Amino acid sequence: MTGEEEALALDAADPGHRDLFHIPPADGGRYAQAAYFAGNSLGLQPKATRAELLEDLDDWQRLGVEGHLEAGRPWLPYHELLTEPAARLVGARPAETVAMNSLTVNLHLLMTSFYRPHGERVHLVIEDSAFPSDSYAVRSQARLHGLDPDTAVVRLRPRAGEAVLRTEDVLEHLAREGQRTALVLLAGVNYLTGELLDIPAITAAGQAAGARVGWDLAHAVGNVPLQLHDWGVDFAAWCSYKYLNAGPGAVAGAFVHERHHADRDLPRLEGWWSTEPATRFRMDPVSRPPASADAWQVSNPPILAMGPVRTSLELFDKVGMSALRARSERLTGYLEALLDEITPSRPIGVVTPRDPGRRGCQLSLRIGSGSGSGSAAELARQLRRTHGVIADAREPDIVRLAPVPLYSTFHDCWRAADALAQAVTA
Ligand SMILES: *Cc1c(COP(=O)(O)O)cnc(C)c1O
Repeated sequence: MTGEEEALALDAADPGHRDLFHIPPADGGRYAQAAYFAGNSLGLQPKATRAELLEDLDDWQRLGVEGHLEAGRPWLPYHELLTEPAARLVGARPAETVAMNSLTVNLHLLMTSFYRPHGERVHLVIEDSAFPSDSYAVRSQARLHGLDPDTAVVRLRPRAGEAVLRTEDVLEHLAREGQRTALVLLAGVNYLTGELLDIPAITAAGQAAGARVGWDLAHAVGNVPLQLHDWGVDFAAWCSYKYLNAGPGAVAGAFVHERHHADRDLPRLEGWWSTEPATRFRMDPVSRPPASADAWQVSNPPILAMGPVRTSLELFDKVGMSALRARSERLTGYLEALLDEITPSRPIGVVTPRDPGRRGCQLSLRIGSGSGSGSAAELARQLRRTHGVIADAREPDIVRLAPVPLYSTFHDCWRAADALAQAVTA
């Protein structure tokens, strides 16, 4: 590959925030650090995280149970520290967001409230390339209501010969099948193809048909700008270990639109953290849920896991999502241009939409048979061995590359293209 000098010059002019992160070493070879493209799977560790974690640990050591009120960041209202920064990140009012649990658990808690099949309105609409956890979750929800998941769950497929869904086809489905649809639950950004769906248009169409519309934002949060409140989304959930860099299995997030907060008829699974804090310790037998997303909390939060989320959200506040998105479009556009130089002569191709408005940072490559590199997993192993490029393979034939605007560089993109050019033969 030519162009290495150009990549280095672009980095000098537009350095990002790499120095705020620990970058794993490349094992051997020409480069000291990995070119890390797997932030869509597990984000890298911010340097600030360790000290934050140790402070919470020290408080526990020093205070024992008194830390609930006396810790530097008191544990009882700790989750409230995450509310406002999370709300800024997803375009919500503070009362609409809460940091809690893990993603799939949050989807279940929210579907308990918002998937209410009745009469002929039973369909739960997802996409055919939904993340498996989401597929299993919605099928089990259908079963919970005594329904046959094979008929209750509707999986939307791209057109024959196409890799991604068209918004117009989703809208057309909702116009045709809307009266039979109880809930639409789609991924904002698809984990496999990197496609960003038109969240406001699909939300409006689903609701116009009388359905509830929720979003799985695992691959969207921290990746693309979101305006959940203004878009009128009923609910959403996300994890914090991908683009939010809050560590493996990090505490997740949830959004419930404020128009649902006062609805006393919504069924909900509750525990002592679902009741208002002012009377929580009266230990009453009946809960009094606050008019906020906090009402969907169940248990007291894992304090030692909350600090990394706070650190991460502070970083997003500091950098700002619109600056990050602008850099993201430059980085991903650059990677795309480099891949366009090598793909015409090789059996690989980008399946992610070409329009930057229809994707986040990730580009997914389909590896054709006869690529000379074996399976997607073998190719990913080779990229790592020869160039220290950490990419991610999804069997049978997809390799995902996510240049993350916080810490990836133009030179990382050059390395990935150079590695692919050498690994995949014409
Ligand atoms: C990463 C991801 C998950 C993971 O679920 P957990 O509950 O965090 O284990 C679920 N759904 C989607 C769409 C994802 O991308």
